[in-house]
Amino acid sequence: MLLLPQVIFVSILGAAIWLFASKITQIRSNIFLGRNEDFSDNKPQRWRNLFLLALGQKKMFKNIPVALMHFIIYAGFIIINIEVLEIVLDGMFGTHRLFYPYTGSLYIFLINFFEILAVGVLLVCVIFLARRNIIKLKRFASKDLNGWPRSDANYILIVEIILMSLFITMNAADRNLQLLGNEHYHDTGNFVISGLLAPLFSGNSETSLLLIERTCWWLHIIGILAFLNYLPYSKHLHIMLAFPNAYFARLDVQGKMTNMETVQNEVKYMMQPELAPTGDAQPMKFGAKDVFDLSWKNLLDAYSCTECGRCSTACPANETGKLLSPRKIMMDTRDRLQEVGKNIAANGSFKDDGKTLLNNYITMEELRACTTCNACVEECPVSISPLDIILQMRRSLVMEDSNAPQEWNGMFSNIENNYAPWKFSPDDRDKWALEMEG
Ligand code: SF4
Ligand code: SF4
Repeated sequence: MLLLPQVIFVSILGAAIWLFASKITQIRSNIFLGRNEDFSDNKPQRWRNLFLLALGQKKMFKNIPVALMHFIIYAGFIIINIEVLEIVLDGMFGTHRLFYPYTGSLYIFLINFFEILAVGVLLVCVIFLARRNIIKLKRFASKDLNGWPRSDANYILIVEIILMSLFITMNAADRNLQLLGNEHYHDTGNFVISGLLAPLFSGNSETSLLLIERTCWWLHIIGILAFLNYLPYSKHLHIMLAFPNAYFARLDVQGKMTNMETVQNEVKYMMQPELAPTGDAQPMKFGAKDVFDLSWKNLLDAYSCTECGRCSTACPANETGKLLSPRKIMMDTRDRLQEVGKNIAANGSFKDDGKTLLNNYITMEELRACTTCNACVEECPVSISPLDIILQMRRSLVMEDSNAPQEWNGMFSNIENNYAPWKFSPDDRDKWALEMEG
């Protein structure tokens, strides 16, 4: 009977880890539905990006107060997990504050630090909730976030507040049990925050205190495991994916457009027909119509998007009332990818559902509104490039569907026939100089 809590704990822990691992494996398979793209160059720079952009949150520091608030939440998430390690081991072995006898004053210092951090996280979550729901910052009030994305952001903030409150309450009840001389509870003395709350519980019996402390303990750890399993369904997956995304960020000069390999090959086969593929070779595709045509990095970008809207706020097309929102481009890509992933899981392989990312999610009007200014890429704190996806889809519109505005079509045929955007014959190109001579 004494082992029952441990058995229950290990079962819950095992189920949570298994569920999380299955979902992450599925997300990984979805990401690798994208075409291959090589990011094996310049490893030192890639590691620098990982430390500065993901770990150091370098881009966030353009706005110091907001950066500090994000840093507190983020540090809280990472550092308080050290304490979760002890909770997990206690749950497995039926111990309490397992590390305390071995670490003594270091332990006291760490728990004090975690408590201060927990209060910091709690306050920042309240501020972030107010920014979204009371102040209604423009980028959070946007229609991009209507429905689930808006609720998702609120749920996570509320859960973090609850988790931090449980942690402090648990320690306050623990302190009272210490004072009552319960032998299972080491005498650690008052911690800096829970010590202030401890007198609130002092009138309770030992049984009530045990009930409060154990309830908080179980809810705290179950909440964390539930949070872990909620992450893959939430924009908060970026907490994990920001790291690989920063590592695999494009290192080219900002704004440099990639060559189209398919076009290069067309030219190559024209010059050297013997190199052209024969037989059952797949017909070449230009640009991207669906998630399969994007690269795996584009798809990793989609899963890493924090939905913060900084890209859309900086986007001149969005700011001047056009339909385009780079944040929506990323959200649509992720939604379509999830849909394709479910289709594959249900049918064994992809069964044509009559939909594509282009047209069913992202429209021609949105794509045409992009000025390719690169502001969205510059602003993104987690190294995402909505522009890359926009360009590939626009290439598909123009080169696969011959769908370009009338003005562009004139320019295209001029380039094809006259080698310049104008409608004059190349033979007449130097006439202006002759006229000057005359
Ligand atoms: S590159 Fe396009 S999507 Fe990005 S900010 Fe500029 S106009 Fe907007
Ligand atoms: S693409 Fe980047 S800037 Fe835009 S919403 Fe996503 S994380 Fe924020």
